[in-house]
Amino acid sequence: NIRVRYAPSPTGHLHIGNARTALFNYLFARHNKGKFIIRIEDTDTKRNITGGEESQLDNLKWLGLDWDEGPDVGGDFGPYRQSERKDIYVKLIQQLLDEGLAYKSYRTEDELESDREAQKARKEMPHYAYEYAGMSDDQIAKAQADAQAKGIEPVVRFRVPQEKTYTWKDIVKGEISFAADTIGGDFVIQKRDGMPTYNFAVVVDDHLMKISHVFRGDDHVANTPKQLMIYEAFGWDAPQFGHMSLIINTETGKKLSKRDESVLQFIEQYRELGYLPDAMLNFIVLLGWSPVGEDEIFTRQEFIKMYDETRLSKSPASFDGKKLEWVNNQYMKNADEDAVFDLAMPQLIEAGYIEKQPDAKTLEWARKLISIFKREISYAHEIVPLTKPFFHGPAEIDDEAKEELQADTALTVLQEFRDRIKKLDYLNTVQILKTIKSIQKDTKIKGRKLWMPIRIAVTHEMHGPELPESIEIIGYEKTLQNLNEMIE
Ligand code: GLU
Repeated sequence: NIRVRYAPSPTGHLHIGNARTALFNYLFARHNKGKFIIRIEDTDTKRNITGGEESQLDNLKWLGLDWDEGPDVGGDFGPYRQSERKDIYVKLIQQLLDEGLAYKSYRTEDELESDREAQKARKEMPHYAYEYAGMSDDQIAKAQADAQAKGIEPVVRFRVPQEKTYTWKDIVKGEISFAADTIGGDFVIQKRDGMPTYNFAVVVDDHLMKISHVFRGDDHVANTPKQLMIYEAFGWDAPQFGHMSLIINTETGKKLSKRDESVLQFIEQYRELGYLPDAMLNFIVLLGWSPVGEDEIFTRQEFIKMYDETRLSKSPASFDGKKLEWVNNQYMKNADEDAVFDLAMPQLIEAGYIEKQPDAKTLEWARKLISIFKREISYAHEIVPLTKPFFHGPAEIDDEAKEELQADTALTVLQEFRDRIKKLDYLNTVQILKTIKSIQKDTKIKGRKLWMPIRIAVTHEMHGPELPESIEIIGYEKTLQNLNEMIE
């Protein structure tokens, strides 16, 4: 039975890297007709943020991921929030204490700090040094009673089988081994506040929730031997592990870090800019996974069908913001008009171009405007700068455009165009096209020399959507006014 989970800590919003972890687990589950589970890992109470959980779940839903079990939908293996599972952990920690596989440690933070300083001075790797080394059981009991009397809260440490080596066959990276004596000594499984640590809780939960496979970021590779030790101590089978390669920011060539401001990294931010969820999903799948062949654009159903975990890449994935724009643009071009309208309209309102409750006429006009820009924009927010001239009158004409207007035939074209549209009763694309064609016929001016002066004079830009459509949207009066200004 395939059961996988995404286990976010509610310490922040949904990051691209987390979304990728969620997505690869989701695709694996759906491809194999297994179960996809959400578990909230909120034992590090100091780092949790309010709204963190809601925001994680909300953005996963926005990406179109659905789950079979989780804190909101329940399931047979709950509760799905670690903070609600404390009793389960405490009981199992007691079991390890009783069996002598773990012990209480009263070393204070200050003492641990000075141990580390001393180790550093001796050029040793930082590690926890067993505080009761060489003591008899009675001496240990006495030392612990003394510390307790002083009011020191203990942590519980797991007794690492120092002489052993832990090995697993990683689905992504192949065989990985750790000698137990290189992992930093007996590690903490229960904190002073009574909460379990991540490495302990994750094992208990993955076991009790019958998780079969764990796909996660390769920053967890060094945790895996610790987790294997705990599985062994309880006599439980471990799931299969797959550690996904890290993500590099193409812009900087460095590992993507949350502090890096050269690229947006939270799903929320792309959502606000009007990206399409299916495009985001498509882009994220390509971060460290590749389909067979050259094509890169697929539907969710196609991804589910062809997903194959053996194609997860060993080498780092490259996060390229430009590529994300490109992928989104592919989806924008194919999206239906209503979908694009729903994304773009709030952007125009937000920018103050259109009022919150537009009347029917404005709405119809906005619909047209958005539809002619549909193919131009990579993501909805781009419509704001691009349509500025349509709302705020003429934009500055740049030098390159001014030069175009210096062409010897430019003035003729503009005058002809003005005079001919003055005779029209109304301006629509067909009429505009006819008019431009008639100028070509009568003056023999054609191509760029014919179109560019009109485009610049009316829209004040050298690029944009189809010219007749743009002119229709700008409207009769404004077009005439812009032409007049340019001619004088
Ligand atoms: N809560 C952990 C994290 O956010 C989950 C790690 C795991 O999948 O085991 O990194």
